[in-house]
Amino acid sequence: MIDEGALRHEMAQLCRSLFERGYAHGSAGNVSARIGEHVLVSPTNSCLGRLDPARISKVTLAGAHVGGDRPSKEASLHLGIYAVRPDVGAVVHLHSTYATVLSCLAETDAVDAMAPITPYLMMRVGRVPMVPYHPPGSGALAHAVRAKARQHRAVLMANHGFVVAGKTFEDAVFNAEELEENAKLLVLTRGHPLRLLSAADLADLEQKFGKG
Ligand SMILES: [Zn+2]
Repeated sequence: MIDEGALRHEMAQLCRSLFERGYAHGSAGNVSARIGEHVLVSPTNSCLGRLDPARISKVTLAGAHVGGDRPSKEASLHLGIYAVRPDVGAVVHLHSTYATVLSCLAETDAVDAMAPITPYLMMRVGRVPMVPYHPPGSGALAHAVRAKARQHRAVLMANHGFVVAGKTFEDAVFNAEELEENAKLLVLTRGHPLRLLSAADLADLEQKFGKG
């Protein structure tokens, strides 16, 4: 059984690290972790760099607020993923720079939004689809992400950012960092001919590290 106090401290510590390294700015981005039949969520308008462990929101899986400050307006994004993925223990949502650039480029493929140009995205996250733009916090956005989350660990959201799941909070944070790193490589290599991993290499990685 996960210790709730330790989890709250881990969330605050890792979010501060993300913020200090530029993965989040202002009050952008939000995170969550599942604990039994409840979910801890970063509060609305909170800064990921300064989360107070004791004030992190606690909601039921259905979204009822039961403790801490009021939850993020984007909590529905997180709850939709837990609803379809009982194996998921945490979700990280960021507006990090390079992933957001990809989410704004007209050329980004909605089916396979992030070409896996190194093995590491495939090893940690797998293929990443993109859902169309819907207003942040809307039911339409949560619904679209939830539909993709059945088969994918991460989803890019057009003109917005991304959401990624993990088994534990640290796992979700590592997945988020890998996704942003791959996005950065893709943006920095734009306009250059890329040597992509072969279909056989990708099939091998998918077989070893699993989909979804
Ligand atoms: Zn957002």
